[in-house]
Amino acid sequence: VFLQACTTSAQKGAEPAIAQDAEIEKKVEALLSEMTLEEKIGQMTQLTIDVLGVPGSAYQGDFQISEAMLDTVIGIYKVGSILNTPGTTAQTREKWHEIISKIQDKSMEVMGIPTLYGLDQIHGSTYILDGTMFPQTLNMGATFNRSLVRRGGEITAYETKAGSVPWTFAPTVDLGRDARWPRMWENFGEDAYVNAEMGREAVLGHQGENPNEIGKEQIAVCMKHYMGYGAPFSGKDRTPSIISERQLREKHFAPFLEAIRAGALSVMGNSGSVNGMPVHASHELLTEWLKEDLNWDGMIVTDWADINNLYTREKIAKDKKEAIKLAINAGIDMAMEPYSWDYCVLLKELVEEGEVKMSRIDDAVRRVLRMKYRLGLFETPVYEVEDFPLFGGEEFGKAALQAAEESIVLLKNEKDVLPLADEKKILVTGPNANSMRTLNGGWSYTWQGTGADKFAAKHNTIQEAFKAKFGSNNVVYEPGVTYNNDGQYWEENEPEIEKAVAAARGVDVIFACIGENSYCETPGNLTDLTLSENQRNLVKALSKTGKPIVLVINSGRPRVISDIEPLADAVIDVMLPGNFGGDALANLVSGDVNFSGKLPFSYPKAVNSLGSYDYKPSEQTGTMEGAYNYNSQMSFQWAFGYGLSYTDFDYSNLSVDKSSFTAGDELTFTVDVTNTGDVAGKESVLLFSSDLVASLTPDVRRLRNFEKVEIQPGETKTVTMTLKGSDLAFVGSDGKWVLEEGDFKVQVGDEVLDIVCAETKKWETPNI
Ligand code: BGC
Repeated sequence: VFLQACTTSAQKGAEPAIAQDAEIEKKVEALLSEMTLEEKIGQMTQLTIDVLGVPGSAYQGDFQISEAMLDTVIGIYKVGSILNTPGTTAQTREKWHEIISKIQDKSMEVMGIPTLYGLDQIHGSTYILDGTMFPQTLNMGATFNRSLVRRGGEITAYETKAGSVPWTFAPTVDLGRDARWPRMWENFGEDAYVNAEMGREAVLGHQGENPNEIGKEQIAVCMKHYMGYGAPFSGKDRTPSIISERQLREKHFAPFLEAIRAGALSVMGNSGSVNGMPVHASHELLTEWLKEDLNWDGMIVTDWADINNLYTREKIAKDKKEAIKLAINAGIDMAMEPYSWDYCVLLKELVEEGEVKMSRIDDAVRRVLRMKYRLGLFETPVYEVEDFPLFGGEEFGKAALQAAEESIVLLKNEKDVLPLADEKKILVTGPNANSMRTLNGGWSYTWQGTGADKFAAKHNTIQEAFKAKFGSNNVVYEPGVTYNNDGQYWEENEPEIEKAVAAARGVDVIFACIGENSYCETPGNLTDLTLSENQRNLVKALSKTGKPIVLVINSGRPRVISDIEPLADAVIDVMLPGNFGGDALANLVSGDVNFSGKLPFSYPKAVNSLGSYDYKPSEQTGTMEGAYNYNSQMSFQWAFGYGLSYTDFDYSNLSVDKSSFTAGDELTFTVDVTNTGDVAGKESVLLFSSDLVASLTPDVRRLRNFEKVEIQPGETKTVTMTLKGSDLAFVGSDGKWVLEEGDFKVQVGDEVLDIVCAETKKWETPNI
């Protein structure tokens, strides 16, 4: 029943998600009509830069394109897209210009069609040296500031184009639903609404408002990883997800829907399976939900080698040829192969044997060519580096610094240990105190982030930023625990805790910078979410000195610290704040800037107590008063949306323009927020709703809107937020959206009010 409801063709005549440009469509058809089958298949193929280069693997030293390989890859196989590779090391923009120019020249000469080069510019200029590195996506979620995400997208697009690269494999809008997952930090957190809102801003930032005309300073996005990737049952990367179909539609689909409505030009598949079906072979998810139901004419690319994975890992095909057939017929338009062109040979055989229809090939090629036209690549396949004078400059750096400042979350601040009073002597300790690698995390100059210490040396680590801010005489650095940077990301060297303890005796306050080394994807899998024993021992030993301790958590996922948290007077979660993270932290702890970040995920207290804020066991309720209630089922260390400031905000007068509503109504809420403290501050005002009684167990709470405002001491600001009545609907067990008659609670800060839905309404498709 569910599948029937969700695959209804009711939407097939829906308004196109992206209104087409008639001129572009004409050009696509004209070109397509002249192409051979080999040329068409080439457009559906993406290989890595590795295969084009000498010495043959990742960029090492002065990477050179091999003419012989260009002759094979483009000359013979007509390959239409190239990407970076896990071994890629960041290159200067001049070098990128040289590489892309060679590929484009060959591509235009052989086929008259430009190549579509894609790069993982994940959190700013990941792979272009001296560009601007923003905080990772999870931090951007913690800012709860849409404009910072939009600006980050604009700057990243500009800097990517400075290297003549037109396409980024970002943003990631997976819902980070499992704290163990090693890609928690690559999305905007656990919540569907936050991912949808921030994802949309990222699309508009990178692409601009008109997807048919991506400008000189703009690039195309690739929304990933479609979908359900962020809730692997095992907590391990690229392992199966089991997600109820209604949760999939209601939550995991939401950010993709919003991005596509904003004009997102491409989508990348989830490498794993959802409910037993590998997404790369799911006609339902790829073709029906995305392309047909939304009437979307963009392009779907596989993730890394994921057609191969259909037979090597997922075992739904007996060999590569069968895997290709399943994926292409399911709706894949381009295969990130990435190393071998036997895909081109096998796909041609499949078409000749009638196993893949020519109409499917034409559909895929249209989508690829359309994207190349929308990007303006036929007219301008490369740009001059000099045309991008703002690259890596002060203006962009300021935006990244502000994003870092607004993303860092103050979780505890007792005995007024922060902001630091003048002339305090400070010990900065811990394995994360002196590392650009840990501040940046993965996707930073190299895939695993290992290049950051070398390539971001001009930026300040935490201890360097503290010395710059508070004076070298006032800051002692003694790590106590260090990572083994030559080993796996989790390896630590023999600890030297006594040295740190000795250094602590001479200071007034200790900053223990703890967390994780950088990692990315599967190598970041964990067997225990608890912070490493060495690091916990360091904090325990330091606490015996009696000096106040500030824990600074620098990690891509919330590591469990419940045994050492009580030993600290203050706790700050910096997550992965990027190149300006050290400076941002120094500005915050000095009080020069106020904290305003809030957690975009639920911080677990125990390794057996993982969950999200909307999840039933997080509710403080139960069936029986007294002994058997649910109170202790789900105790988070810190809740979703939690974050302190140096000032206090008082909420009052929450009101709504109509207390009774139906699906089509717009509801306008206002609330007064007063800064009752002595310093100015920014507050993210979060609006939650709860459906009090529903035909299916309702979520405990859902975030429905947020707005960040700056308020001066003593000032009151009235914050206005709107909702559509239909926003309060859920997907029922029949796969249909339903808004049910009855009472809802709306909460903003500690203000609560009730609203009543006057009429039940059902509809088939996402709330349009
Ligand atoms: C990752 C993607 C990434 C791709 C290309 C894959 O391993 O899962 O997120 O875009 O590699 O580098």
